[in-house]
Amino acid sequence: MIRTVYLNGTYLPENEAKVSIFDRGFLFADGVYEVTSVLGGKLIDFQGHALRLARSLSELGMRNPIETADLLEVHRELVRVNDIDEGLIYLQITRGAAADRDFAYPSEDTLPTIVLFTQNKPGLADSPVAKVGIKVISIADQRWGRRDIKTVQLLYPSMGKMMAKAAGCDDAWMVEDGAVTEGTSNNAYIVKDGKIITRHLSNDILHGITRAAVLRFAREAQMEVEERAFTVAEAQNADEAFFTSASAFVMPVVELDGQAIGAGIPGPVAIRLREIYLDESRKIAI
Ligand code: PMP
Repeated sequence: MIRTVYLNGTYLPENEAKVSIFDRGFLFADGVYEVTSVLGGKLIDFQGHALRLARSLSELGMRNPIETADLLEVHRELVRVNDIDEGLIYLQITRGAAADRDFAYPSEDTLPTIVLFTQNKPGLADSPVAKVGIKVISIADQRWGRRDIKTVQLLYPSMGKMMAKAAGCDDAWMVEDGAVTEGTSNNAYIVKDGKIITRHLSNDILHGITRAAVLRFAREAQMEVEERAFTVAEAQNADEAFFTSASAFVMPVVELDGQAIGAGIPGPVAIRLREIYLDESRKIAI
């Protein structure tokens, strides 16, 4: 099926959507993105993604080409025309196409490029993978220092996923100065003696929208949360581990660098948080 996508104010078939070879997203990875999940045809945490998008743009001195209300309308329209019940909406904004390749930002009159497309993912919530958990390896975190900005500069995370695949695993947790920063495309957590531990917010990690929601739900359910860095050894000796992201929600992690975590099966805290997250998010989806 040919999707309908959104490009710079127009809805059009995916094979007709074209972007300039001079686009700075293409030449310099000078762009930011968001991924919002869709459950039951509704958007999960749209407001959180819109706010983070505005922050990413502002940190890079990039103009926001669209009002939040209009952005919501575009998301909804794409869900409608592409008939998405469960899936994802990808949004990317770049600094646009200048007349030539130049490291310096182009003048103010260069229009940003904005693209949105849907990804249909039936069964996203009822994931069979979440029932068995995933295996991760640890790798050095070799990304740049502003991981709090959600840029499209994703080559190292791609390399990390390939390293995991080569090791027979599903993903990689990145390590810097002896502590886990985050997963290649998710935030990392361990559980020890009933306490949920996840790295504190800083420029070292992406401020996950799912992370914020999960921690809020955990605290509301009287679960103890500690926001601090943890080591690989601590994770291997934890009772359980999991990660969060908009596309995987809460995903149990059952093995790290070949060592089983806890009983080597999804733990009760991760399972419960996944349920709470899905239930509560559906209730407030728009
Ligand atoms: N960290 C990184 C590096 C990511 O790429 C992502 C997902 N884009 C996350 C964390 C999770 O963020 P969110 O919950 O907003 O999807």
